[in-house]
Amino acid sequence: MSYEVKKQILDKIKEYDKIVIIRHFRPDGDAIGTSKGLQRLLQLSFPEKSVKVINHDYSDYIAFLGDEDEEISDEEYAESLVIVVDTGTLERVSNENARKGKEIIKIDHHEVDIPYGDIAWVEDWRAACAEMIVDFYLTFKDELKMDKLAATYLFTGMVTDSGRFRFSSVNGDSMRLAGALLDFGIDLESLYANLYLDEFDNVLAKAESTKMIKMTENGVAYIYISQEYQKEHGLSREDASNMVSLMNEIKGSIIWIAFIETEENIRVRLRSRFVPVIDIARQYRGGGHDRASGATVLNQEEVKALLAEADRVIKEFKENNTGWM
Ligand code: AMP
Repeated sequence: MSYEVKKQILDKIKEYDKIVIIRHFRPDGDAIGTSKGLQRLLQLSFPEKSVKVINHDYSDYIAFLGDEDEEISDEEYAESLVIVVDTGTLERVSNENARKGKEIIKIDHHEVDIPYGDIAWVEDWRAACAEMIVDFYLTFKDELKMDKLAATYLFTGMVTDSGRFRFSSVNGDSMRLAGALLDFGIDLESLYANLYLDEFDNVLAKAESTKMIKMTENGVAYIYISQEYQKEHGLSREDASNMVSLMNEIKGSIIWIAFIETEENIRVRLRSRFVPVIDIARQYRGGGHDRASGATVLNQEEVKALLAEADRVIKEFKENNTGWM
């Protein structure tokens, strides 16, 4: 079944001279890796076409993959095929001009109930959206071209969104697709150095922040990063957001949550193993994946209520399951 939609997408790409690739805002490695990987793949395969990646925000963390492209005119959008990648709903695009494209294709791996796009290819079991681009390449290998750079972009998407291939969404296909990319000679040592090494000051700041982690009765680990704390320690929004990963290796804590205070509201990042957190996120203006979701809460009462709900989920899981660890 997915062959049909992939073929439709390839035909559509062939029809257009101008293609614009757009991703979600607050980008992660998968959003950027998928966009730049698809761009490179299409540039190599169809050198006569203009293929741009245009967005309105960026990530320091993934900046080593290089810049995206300059904004274009409304007239150009009107002639372009817009491909939106790794973005569950159109509300989450980094570039609102997505809607100005002549046609929109959605390629995504989020669980969503609000569809969009003239053609939508959604595989929500995929560990990363980048997997879908590799699968697309392998399906039409005779017509498409990949190189080491494209493979590096796509591998970045796969390794980051799968938590270094450790999340439960990783399956044999993920490994086969990653293997196909490694055959292009990706420099893993350099890629991992860029992704996972941190400034000494940040390492010290993380050690200090670790002491702020708290635990609910049944084992929800959480951290609340106030605006004051962010200012005091010179943390960017991205640094503060990354604090969620301080909690991902605590035994017994199968849900962990970071609350990041902003001027407008409190951003919530939920992560889990064994149990889904997406239902909790959906109760608080959010969504995402089974075991990695985002949400927004408006005040301290909602923080408490969300934590109580997460605690209830863990309690129920622990009462009804044995031998999970
Ligand atoms: P985050 O913690 O923000 O990295 O979010 C985890 C995953 O959930 C990512 O794949 C996000 O794209 C997605 N996500 C975050 N916030 C929302 C939201 N409000 N609605 C739908 N998906 C979201």
